[in-house]
Amino acid sequence: MKRSLRKIALLASFLLFLTPFSVLFITLHSQTAGKPKFQWPIQGLDLPSLITSSFGESRKDHFHNGLDISSVFQPVRSLESGYVLYSRYGEDNPFEEERGSGNILWVAHKDGYISGYYHLAGSRHENIRSKIEIKAGEVIGSSGNTGHSTGGHLHFVLGKDFGKTLLDPLAYLPPQEDTMFPQIANLFIHVGETYTNINDGDNINVSKAFPLTVSVFDGGVKNSQRRGIRNIEYIFNGEPMGKTSFDSIHFDKGKWKTANGLSFDDLYFKDRYLVGILNLKTGENIIKVIASDFSDQKSERTFSVNVTRIASGN
Ligand SMILES: [Zn+2]
Repeated sequence: MKRSLRKIALLASFLLFLTPFSVLFITLHSQTAGKPKFQWPIQGLDLPSLITSSFGESRKDHFHNGLDISSVFQPVRSLESGYVLYSRYGEDNPFEEERGSGNILWVAHKDGYISGYYHLAGSRHENIRSKIEIKAGEVIGSSGNTGHSTGGHLHFVLGKDFGKTLLDPLAYLPPQEDTMFPQIANLFIHVGETYTNINDGDNINVSKAFPLTVSVFDGGVKNSQRRGIRNIEYIFNGEPMGKTSFDSIHFDKGKWKTANGLSFDDLYFKDRYLVGILNLKTGENIIKVIASDFSDQKSERTFSVNVTRIASGN
């Protein structure tokens, strides 16, 4: 009983805390326009080699909604000037199980932009304990390994429209070296829980339409780094099958979707890019995958598959 009352009190104080800020942000919003200049939350390290996950990647059942920078106990800086919107640290509820995001902090910036910092180490930084207003590049925490995190890293998120749209931070931050083109690897056909690798020129037997997936990734300067796929498109027997851009995701009817309205399940299957549930015809089928990365480096790969249609077993 006491506990739930305390929760309500906490919630009420949180809401009261937010209200004046939302008013403030609306005022700021009308004053300034244009794309803000953000800065990297981790500085003074070899950033190009530390970006290990990119925006929009598959995380089994959801989009990865930010960028990962491999680092631990490094100062984390605010992407832009703003106000501390929310923070939650494990020490607030020592008897509760740690959340997946670990210690987190959200900062609100002008024009409805917000930034979030996850898996932070230790306790609240004195800057966010002692004040609400934060300068651009000011230290707001320390990178860590709290929550669902394997190895120390900073996961950070950039949003606009007060968080209803999440953006690929790479489009807003000073560019990092990216010399690798997207790598389009193997094509799979999935039949139930099993899958078969399809190589260009293979002969296969099918009875009906099955999901076809492809593995695509984009390195930075080395394979171990990530910059991410920005656009992907599929052409099946000369017909455009699907196309999307991973510049942003927005929340719509209970799901995160890319700008052209595709959800995670439309774009991924079994942790791989979903080309489509393709009804392969007898004879030659041509599947073309085109992918480009953030530096507009474009790769394409064509798979020719010879198909024999067989009677459906089940
Ligand atoms: Zn992450």
